[in-house]
Amino acid sequence: MDNFFSKAPDIKPLKSQFDALKDDYERIFIEAAESIRAEVNKFKPENPCANCPVKDCKIEKKDVFTPYPPNCEYRDWQIKILSFLAGDYRQKLKNIHKNILDKKANYTCNNCASCCKLSTSELSYAQLKQRALRGDKFSKDFVSVFVPYETDEEAKKANPEYFELLSNVMGDVKVYYYYCPKLKGNLCSDYENRPDICKDFPHNPLKLLPSSCAFNAWKDEVAHQALLLKAKVDIIEYYKDKLQ
Ligand code: SF4
Ligand code: SF4
Repeated sequence: MDNFFSKAPDIKPLKSQFDALKDDYERIFIEAAESIRAEVNKFKPENPCANCPVKDCKIEKKDVFTPYPPNCEYRDWQIKILSFLAGDYRQKLKNIHKNILDKKANYTCNNCASCCKLSTSELSYAQLKQRALRGDKFSKDFVSVFVPYETDEEAKKANPEYFELLSNVMGDVKVYYYYCPKLKGNLCSDYENRPDICKDFPHNPLKLLPSSCAFNAWKDEVAHQALLLKAKVDIIEYYKDKLQ
């Protein structure tokens, strides 16, 4: 099977990766909204007003987000939609998520060590340690290997291009930079005991990766699918909020 090793790595500048994701998301969001609208319209009752027991109903626009009285058939429609989105549809999205992650197995880390040299979090080291103490698995893994850079300048030296992009993308949001002291040269000195965050990296295909990361090829392969999934999850949350 043709895999990553048989091709030269396709390295794109980070800024263009980010701009492409942003532009695609707007287009894909509309695609996702239309697809969900088509699904929920399958449950829409056909002209139930003819036999409606509700007197003096003044509702003209029978839209999915219109507020309906409790004994209205359109309200039943909204309840069916909520149940569909929380059941079959959510399962369908879970399967897509699994499929996206499964495709990562076709790519292999090239040991560039960028992810060990420069990792970021919106949480400070103290906040991460607090979360770890409260049992948060990700935070536990994170503080078991990463320590903070003393200064942003030091972090920048680890990967100037990646540092610049992350600082630009995060804007005014404070970002904390970390590194792993277990890295020796470009190799992990405690490979057998590395935590799941290292084994699973990158776990999100929408995450901005360093240019040198071999999993950029995976990101490219699943980008459309992952953006569509994110858009659908965001839209479902909106439906839940509006229809409950
Ligand atoms: S434990 Fe090993 S793989 Fe994980 S961040 Fe440190 S050096 Fe990298
Ligand atoms: S940045 Fe990507 S390719 Fe480089 S060591 Fe980390 S996972 Fe491997």
